[in-house]
Amino acid sequence: MPGSFAGASTDDRSTSRSGTGAGRYAPSPTAELHVGNLRTALLAWLFARSTGRRFLLRIEDLDTARVRPGMGEQQLGDLAALGITFDCKPVVQSQRLAAYQDALITLADRTYECFCSRREIAEAASAPHGSVAPYPGTCRNLTEADRIERRLRRQPALRLRADGAVQTVHDLLHGDITAEVDDVVLRRNDGTPAYNLAVVVDDAFSGVDQVVRGDDLLPAAATQAFLAALLGCSPPTYAHVPLAVNAEGRRLAKRDGAVTLPDLAALGMGPSSVLGLIAVSLDLASPGEGVTPGILLQRFDPERLPRGPWVVIPKA
Ligand code: GLU
Repeated sequence: MPGSFAGASTDDRSTSRSGTGAGRYAPSPTAELHVGNLRTALLAWLFARSTGRRFLLRIEDLDTARVRPGMGEQQLGDLAALGITFDCKPVVQSQRLAAYQDALITLADRTYECFCSRREIAEAASAPHGSVAPYPGTCRNLTEADRIERRLRRQPALRLRADGAVQTVHDLLHGDITAEVDDVVLRRNDGTPAYNLAVVVDDAFSGVDQVVRGDDLLPAAATQAFLAALLGCSPPTYAHVPLAVNAEGRRLAKRDGAVTLPDLAALGMGPSSVLGLIAVSLDLASPGEGVTPGILLQRFDPERLPRGPWVVIPKA
């Protein structure tokens, strides 16, 4: 659906001028932020601040095999260098395991054990990006005898029993999106809470009512909104924003060249120049103009956001 804007409206009907709602940026501390990530963070900040919301940072560090020590702090430092500010201390997912456990207890009637391969489960649990095929339902209707026998060979993951539910979400850039809810993994077979559970529990916990993130996560929104409702929470409003891509049109990555703040600083391009570059890509500034997040906030108009991917040609 990315790229299709039928019915799109950038009128944020849940505008929170009372200061009670919040937006957020939720990086995984597995790699340095590149200019595409920084642009998404700036957009999340602009959407939140322009609607009177608080702005929060969440460190999504549950996938311990991929987390790099100190990376969360470095990401925070990079965001601060651009002038992106947060209203309270970061929420750190590895410190909230009890909350995910409580949610699993609440959802107990809507889950089932899944014994499918580690690879399939790891895909669903640790890779929020990219289109993960919907779960084919292999373990959905196992008998108790099947499960007893399989438990002897493998610890089960826990999946959502969606029962073919269909959910509509409102996206400020993509309009109303209706999709079938997937039987996503909620707890991996090593016991780790999965991305789709943690993101929903934490957004609800933090009062996040506006989720702005890359449009690669648009396919996850319906399932997450459905989960929020099962947990008794109102789903947020979404804005899935276009990604940064390399010259070949593939999602930008560190291997594409100087795309992180430290790499660009080494080439003589400081944080304010990087902010300027991002602002130009958003049609919020002219090339070479000095800007601050505050200036960009005055100019920000979601209706006028470029809707296609940002093609980044890194400096040599
Ligand atoms: N942690 C995810 C990422 O690094 C973002 C998840 C979300 O925003 O819902 O892309």
